[in-house]
Amino acid sequence: MTPYTINDLEHADTGHAIQVADRVWWVGHQQENDIFQCHVYLIEQGDQSVLFDPGSVLTFRYTLRKIEEIIPFTHIRYFVCHHQDPDITSALPLIDQLISRDDAVLVTHWRTQMLVKHYGLQKLPFWLVEEHGWKLALEDRQVDFIFTPYAHFPGAICTFDPVTRVLFSSDLFGGLTPEFSLVARDESYFEALRPFHEHYMPSRDILGYALRAIERYPVRLIAPQHGSIIPERLVRFMMDQLKTLECGLYLIARGDTDIQKLSQLNQTLRDIMHTMLIYRDFRDIVKNLLEITQRLLPAISLEFYARLDDQRVLHLSPESRYRGVEEAVRPPSVARILDLDHKQWEELNTANVVEFMLASDDDDTPILMVPLFSPARGTAQAVAIIHLAERVVANDDLRQIIEQMSVPLQVAVEREVIYRQLDMERQQIYERSIRDPLTGLFTRIYMQEVVQRLCDIQDRSPGNQVAVLMLDIDHFKSVNDTYGHNQGDVVLRQVAGTILETVRSSDIPVRLGGEEFAIFVVGESVVSAAPFAERLRMEIAALRFEGPLADRTVTVSIGVAIRQAQEALLDLIQRADTALYDAKHGGRNRVCMALEGEV
Ligand code: GH3
Ligand code: MG
Ligand code: MG
Repeated sequence: MTPYTINDLEHADTGHAIQVADRVWWVGHQQENDIFQCHVYLIEQGDQSVLFDPGSVLTFRYTLRKIEEIIPFTHIRYFVCHHQDPDITSALPLIDQLISRDDAVLVTHWRTQMLVKHYGLQKLPFWLVEEHGWKLALEDRQVDFIFTPYAHFPGAICTFDPVTRVLFSSDLFGGLTPEFSLVARDESYFEALRPFHEHYMPSRDILGYALRAIERYPVRLIAPQHGSIIPERLVRFMMDQLKTLECGLYLIARGDTDIQKLSQLNQTLRDIMHTMLIYRDFRDIVKNLLEITQRLLPAISLEFYARLDDQRVLHLSPESRYRGVEEAVRPPSVARILDLDHKQWEELNTANVVEFMLASDDDDTPILMVPLFSPARGTAQAVAIIHLAERVVANDDLRQIIEQMSVPLQVAVEREVIYRQLDMERQQIYERSIRDPLTGLFTRIYMQEVVQRLCDIQDRSPGNQVAVLMLDIDHFKSVNDTYGHNQGDVVLRQVAGTILETVRSSDIPVRLGGEEFAIFVVGESVVSAAPFAERLRMEIAALRFEGPLADRTVTVSIGVAIRQAQEALLDLIQRADTALYDAKHGGRNRVCMALEGEV
């Protein structure tokens, strides 16, 4: 018997049968330029030997020669077909002719029988696994059949040999290997396995069902029909990796035959989705999106325009560190894409494949413009611009990459726009609640929130004093009565305008209601609160109006109070109000200081 270890197998001569475990032989054929290598295995059991997945018409003569290096072909009694594919079964009519014994059987599942019977085999009868308790007793061992349906056929099975602990896994654990290697060398073999499974297995559930069935067996070596044999140290790894695989890739690629490229694309899309799940900040998202895009295209940077409303777009670019700048809709190339529906886009596009998207930006560097269609509206509500290091060829490959990438990009940008709009609405609502619309001064709501904080600061560091000027327009009712409410509003706006021009940026001017105002001054300005009130009074008295009010003089009365330590805000206001009352009763158009209060 030939000695064998996994290391020997790597360098074994594939021109001959190779023993991979005790009485288990590889009898496949290495085809030139075939990434889809098909392996055939033999369990040598004297004249009760078993051949697994005999192979195709293309390779059977080589397999036959290798079998005969070990045993006469007539010693094979069991021909196991794990499923019905031609690369496994098309040699069956040849075998049927070669058979010279009455007890040879074709071992398979009933669903496979339904199809394979169409070969019209004359001598080889079916031996169905489910009719034999899913077991086959041999000379020195009994093998188990494992039901692994839809991987990738509803009658698919695998075989486990408990003596050598070899799993004859058929298509499962198969790989696409551009370079033939009988044994998988390391974890990187999974990359050969990935596209094969993503593409041929319909769903993760179904693959998971098969994997769970296999996990019950103490597998030491996996002998798949395609790719490379998986040694014990890699079995667990491949198993775990397969469990996480997204399958059913053929759903997104009806016509494409480059399975590896599709797989890479699939991986890329998954990474994009993952990026969006774990990152919230658009800058982080873009950084990752760029790295991912660079796997497929010579991308330098990403830029986005997303529609906010009829006139404006949100421009997210590296220049603004993706903070997002509101702009008018431009440049024209972007304006041309926004609001197109799929049909219009197709019309533009089919004229010149993706040539349309390939343009140059202002610096004459190549860019790729990708419309991002909103699923809700069915129109392009955003455009992604991929800046490229070099021109790329506009072909169907590129078109496919772009089509696939545009979905996750759309989701990322739309999400950002929604966040942005919410932010803007929140900001607007806040602005509205703190600014009086007629005069532009702050409202009571703002006063209560902010002035209370200023008072708290003063209590912690007494240097930061607070004072208030309480201001009321004199005889304002008569302005309304004489000139009408609109002219009253003009006066209110002008007085407010004077206040705004006079205050410091640290002061807080408030419209308390009607024609009453408060101005809070803080810090060092407090000492000059009284002279400030006096100046304000004079400036208002000097106001000149246009139109009906041309002859009218408007004056104000002001009460000033300086906050005492620990004084409650309401008490402070009350004191200023009392001073204002004094100013009114003292004849109006004057400033009165509040008396010190009891704290
Ligand atoms: P005094 O000198 O004692 O302050 O007399 P006054 O007429 O200014 O005081 P009063 O409180 O009697 O009148 C205030 C008037 O301000 C009554 C109200 O109709 C008017 N008013 C309140 N809010 C507005 C507003 O937003 N626009 C206009 N045009 N008038 C307003
Ligand atoms: Mg008044
Ligand atoms: Mg009043």
